[in-house]
This record gives sequence, structure tokens and C-alpha cells, in this order.
Amino acid sequence: MDHTLNYNANNIFSGLLQKPSLFKDRNAITPHFTPSNLPFREKQISEISFSLRSALQGKKSDNIFIYGKVGTGKTSCAKFVLQQCQDFSMQNNAPAETVYVNCRTYNSKYKVLQSVLRNFFPEDNFMGFSASFLFEKLLDYSEKNKKHLIVALDEIDKVKDLDDLVYSLTRANDELQNSSISILGISNNLMFKDRLDSRTKSALCEQEMVFPPYNAKELKQILGERILVAFQENVVDASAINLAAAIAAQESGDARTAVMLLLRAGELAEKSGSLKVTDLDIIKAKRKVEEEIIFSMISTLPMQEQLVLFSVASLSVNKKGVKRITGMGENILFSGDVYEEYVRIASSLKESVVSARWYREYISELETYGLITTTQSGKGIRGSTRLIKLAYDAEKIFETIKKELMKE
Ligand code: ADP
Ligand code: MG
Repeated sequence: MDHTLNYNANNIFSGLLQKPSLFKDRNAITPHFTPSNLPFREKQISEISFSLRSALQGKKSDNIFIYGKVGTGKTSCAKFVLQQCQDFSMQNNAPAETVYVNCRTYNSKYKVLQSVLRNFFPEDNFMGFSASFLFEKLLDYSEKNKKHLIVALDEIDKVKDLDDLVYSLTRANDELQNSSISILGISNNLMFKDRLDSRTKSALCEQEMVFPPYNAKELKQILGERILVAFQENVVDASAINLAAAIAAQESGDARTAVMLLLRAGELAEKSGSLKVTDLDIIKAKRKVEEEIIFSMISTLPMQEQLVLFSVASLSVNKKGVKRITGMGENILFSGDVYEEYVRIASSLKESVVSARWYREYISELETYGLITTTQSGKGIRGSTRLIKLAYDAEKIFETIKKELMKE
């Protein structure tokens, strides 16, 4: 049978498939793509690799903890270094072996162990075994093969029993004679480290590294390089690149936002039959990307922060703002009211309820993520209190978190 495509002029797809695409390689401009060139991260890459070299030399390498805002290149850099280390080890018969686990999917000690083992024993199924069995199996594997393992735990803050996991993996090294296990922990959450149990913290942070946000100039170069791979030649206007870089730099210094803006703008331009991606496409893409980013940001928040944000959204949806007292904007809330709502919601969901002090920490953190804004009220409104306003559409945030909370 002939498998070559025979375009039938009457088929609705024939026109679509024959149209030349603005993209050369669309995949290269999606957020999941790991570029092999990571400008402005040379220092971080060389620090991580310097540390991992011990494993290649047959020694345990230090545990490393990497943190920084979303889109600062942590996952890309980690995956790149791990792959390089793995390749080098294979080619030179060195004892290092790396494994990458995304803890957003594997969010418990048990699931992490399963995922790591599946990497080493692709044919075996580890369903139904106890955690201690899986753990012994892992030690057995590294000891028998004399492997110095580097286990990357991305979005490590998602692991529910993290203290237990870190403790087990670190303590394993006391038992191992000819092998070792090191952890490369990664988190998007800037305050996570300070909340760790002190033993976990000192184990995990033998070395630590911050990934700072990118500025507009850096984002422009990152985008410029990516466009060469992802788009056909001369399709993207220089001013569109500048605008995307400026928007992303202003909002968060986040390369993911910048990349997404170009992806969506390219799709919009293509859909409208245009041959160029212009400023206007970037402006049109902005809203859509913002929504996508907010939703993914919400899903990465720890549950207690989701609950606090949910309380803000809930009061906003129900128009419980301070307007009734002060005539201020409709959705401005008293911090105390939000805390009360949080206590009510958390209790009704049978979740633990944090103290007011922790609550204030969460509020600060939600503000650093740009999900809410806060101001101090002037004197006279209930003494002096903090006022809180949701930065995005209340209904949408409310529905999104509701879905997230149902998932648990
Ligand atoms: P993080 O893990 O910190 O959230 P990622 O590594 O997932 O960030 O990066 C998000 C997006 O930005 C990805 O598409 C990635 O390819 C791109 N990116 C981040 N930093 C760079 C860089 N220095 N050079 C090129 N692309 C980058
Ligand atoms: Mg990441």
C-alpha cells in the first residue's frame, strides 16, 4: 500500500497541511524543550558540574539545593548537566549515574523511590512493594554496580514526606561501601528552604545556589537564539522580540513567559494567515499567556498557600471587600477577614490550620509571586491593618484552586 500523503482537494485538512508554517520546529519554543545552549547560566552550570565531578571520580558528591523563581532556567540547567554527566560517565566507564524525578508527579517518598527504580530497572514493575523493600533494592543496585548516584528531585517542595525521604537517602551513605547517593534538590519556592526541618535543611543544602531572574536584555538574547531554531527565517519582527522580552522582564524576569509569548504569538499569526509575527501578535498573546502562567503557578503552590489564596478569591467572588465601610475598591479585603475565611475553609476541608504568623508569611509569599497585592491601611480603618487585593480575576482563580484542591 502506498503511504505517501495523497492530498484530496475536498478534504478539510488539505488546505491546512499544505500551507507553509511560520514555525521551523514548533517544539523548540515550548516550555518543555531543553535547549543545549543556556546563556547567562554559565556560572550555575559550571558550579553544578564542578560539584558532580566527584561522582565521576568515584566519590560521593555534595547534596545541592537550587532555588529561584519559575522560569529562571533551573530545570533546563539541571537536565543539561545531568545529561552531560551521564554521557561522560557512559563514554568513560566512570561510576556516576544520574536520575531526574519531577516531584510534582512523584510527590511522596514512595513514589520517588518507585520512579528512581523504574529508571534503573525499566522492565520491572514495583507496584505493591513496601517502601523499605524499594529502598533496599535501590541500595543494592548502587552497591552491586558500584554506582555514585545523583538523584535530581525537581520541585522537591511537593514531596509530602520530604524529611523522611531526605533522611533515608542521606543515611543510606552510612551503609554504602563502594557507592553513594547524592541529592540535587530544586525548588521554585523562594521561602521553602527556611521552612525545612533543621536536619533536613542541613542535609539538603550542603551547597546551595540561587537562580536570579533575567533582565530584558538577557531575555532578548535568549529569545533571539531560540527563534533561530523554532521559526522560519525572518518571520519574527525584531520589535516583537523586544516587546516579548520587555513584558517578561517587567512581569517576572521569567524566560518561560518570554518563550510562551512567542509561541502563542506565532500561533496567532499563523492562524490569521499572516507571514510575520509582529508586536500586535505579542500583545494579543499576552492575555492568554498570563492566564496559562497564573494557572500553572497556582498548581505549583503548596497546599496551605492555595488555601490562603482560595480564601482571598472566595471573599472577592462574594464581594466581601472593605467597600461597604470605606468606599474603597470593591475587592480590597481586610487581612483579618481573609484569615478568618482561611480558618473556616481549611477546617471544613479537614486540613491543618496554620497560625496567624504563618498566614502572614504566606500572604507575603503570594505577593512576591504577584498573585495578590497588599497595602497597609491608613490609621482609622480598624487601627492599622493590611489590605489585600487579588491581582487577577477572582472567579477564575476561585475555580482553578477549587479544581486543584479536589485533586488532593
Ligand atoms: P525553571 O525550572 O527555573 O522554572 P526552566 O528551566 O523550566 O525554568 O525554563 C523555562 C523556559 O525558559 C524553558 O523553555 C527554557 O528552555 C527557557 N530558558 C530558561 N533559561 C534559559 C536560558 N538561559 N537560555 C535559554 N532558554 C532558557
Ligand atoms: Mg522547573
